[in-house]
Amino acid sequence: MQTSTTSATRADGPTFEKRSPVTGEPLGRFPITSPAEVDEAVARAREAFATWRETPLEERLRMLGRIKDVVEAHGEEYARRISEDTGKPLVDSLLTELMSIPLFLDHYRKTAAKVLGRKRVGTPILFPGKRSYIERFPVGVIAVIAPWNFPFQLSMIPVLSALIAGNTVVLKPSEVTPLTGEIIAEIFRRIGLPRGVVEVLQGDGTTGAALTAAAVDKIFFTGSVATGRKVMAAAAQRPIPVELELGGKDAMIVLADANLRRAARAAAWGGLVNCGQMCTSVERVLVESAVHDRFVALLDEEVAKMRVGGPDEHAEMGPLTFGKQLETIERHVKGAVEAGARILRGGERVDRPGQFYAPTIVTGVTPEMELYREETFGPVIPVIEVADADEAVRLANDHQYGLNGSVFTGDVERGLAIASRLECGQVMVNDLVASVGNPALPFGGVKNSGFGRYHGDEGLLSFTHERAIMVDRGRLDFEAFWFPYQGKYDAMAQVFHGLVGGNLPKALVGLAKLGRITSRG
Ligand code: NAD
Repeated sequence: MQTSTTSATRADGPTFEKRSPVTGEPLGRFPITSPAEVDEAVARAREAFATWRETPLEERLRMLGRIKDVVEAHGEEYARRISEDTGKPLVDSLLTELMSIPLFLDHYRKTAAKVLGRKRVGTPILFPGKRSYIERFPVGVIAVIAPWNFPFQLSMIPVLSALIAGNTVVLKPSEVTPLTGEIIAEIFRRIGLPRGVVEVLQGDGTTGAALTAAAVDKIFFTGSVATGRKVMAAAAQRPIPVELELGGKDAMIVLADANLRRAARAAAWGGLVNCGQMCTSVERVLVESAVHDRFVALLDEEVAKMRVGGPDEHAEMGPLTFGKQLETIERHVKGAVEAGARILRGGERVDRPGQFYAPTIVTGVTPEMELYREETFGPVIPVIEVADADEAVRLANDHQYGLNGSVFTGDVERGLAIASRLECGQVMVNDLVASVGNPALPFGGVKNSGFGRYHGDEGLLSFTHERAIMVDRGRLDFEAFWFPYQGKYDAMAQVFHGLVGGNLPKALVGLAKLGRITSRG
């Protein structure tokens, strides 16, 4: 028994080319899975669902737990291949791509039974002698459509969450990072899941669109707002549920009482890690006036230390994974400068082959600029001077996106109070980004950053439907509210006024009368 993977596509079908982001050299050609092949894969996943949903949770967790052994044994080789695919430093491939998988598997191994298990809930006095439960059941075949910036993690975590919850999955990795798609297919082949439980389909937007139109039961999409709209429109045709994990323009607030050295190092890491290609990148640093110049000087010191290079050079920052992103970055920076902003550092491509852009700081950024309004998705740290914390909160919230945020302050209680005022899915106080790595915390956005949550309990619950169950022992021949209605009105009015007026004894007397009338038949 084997997982179907890219090999399921026709050998003579259309293909796309992958080039190295570091050198521009071709790295191979990959199949574009056709709509007919997508339908076949979905049909296999549908067939497998019948068995997988009945496989006990413990057994599902045990089988998926083998991924830990595979990642342990092949992790460094996978890190090299992911870095070849994306250009990101090897440290990042290990830290931000591979390491999260065992952490999530461990977390769900400990929590899944409780999260997914049947729960007893209260039953109102109106229903004497009954018990009520909520239980969960899997949604069915889940389409997971993934982006290229964290091509391993952002595919694997939704796939694993859906599988643990009893669904089968058809994954379409990004066409920008097909080498990572191969790694994922290889991992599922290695652990030997039954055929159809996970299908990995390489391909471009046409494959993604075919998957959203196929007979899947839910779509979990991570990517841009523009594609998210198309995915939601496709889902509306059937209609099926969607979850959208979209872009961000995360605000980092630096207050005057913050540890400025820490804040500067945080901004450098949060803005430049993964070459700024992160939905949770720091894309707006809002700094209180009193410390603005000092903070900027410290930030510049930190960014000056950054070394840029390919994975083999063990630099802090690699190239852009997606070459077209360079044009967006250049347009944002140029537009900002034309509108009065100042490039403190960087602001240009790096003079070497490949898709490299220099680590960049832009100061004097204002809300009218595209660099402020739109997601840049590159190694650019825009700094905005604000009068005080209130202005910082107002600006942070007055934006189309709401994914992550952070507050740097010497007063943790104040930081927490400000965190509670930020309109976004995650906030950290005196740190940033890392909360996404805690499997116990939910993750997701508001506004144009999307909706729905995964990670944490939600990561399993969102791949289930709820089923409400009420149980009666069935000993009586009747129920108080059943027919006949003849002669019941006064007793019913007593129940009504007793309950609505908060007079429980009166309601119970009415209920007993109803029961007596019904029992006489
Ligand atoms: P994208 O929207 O271009 O592509 C995402 C995926 O959608 C790819 O697999 C692509 O092939 C597929 N696709 C393209 N057209 C499609 C269609 N019509 N129907 C269905 N699928 C289609 O996004 P991207 O450039 O790969 O990723 C970058 C974006 O993702 C950024 O905006 C980033 O902020 C966002 N992102 C969000 C999160 C999050 O968790 N919120 C995480 C990472 C990235």
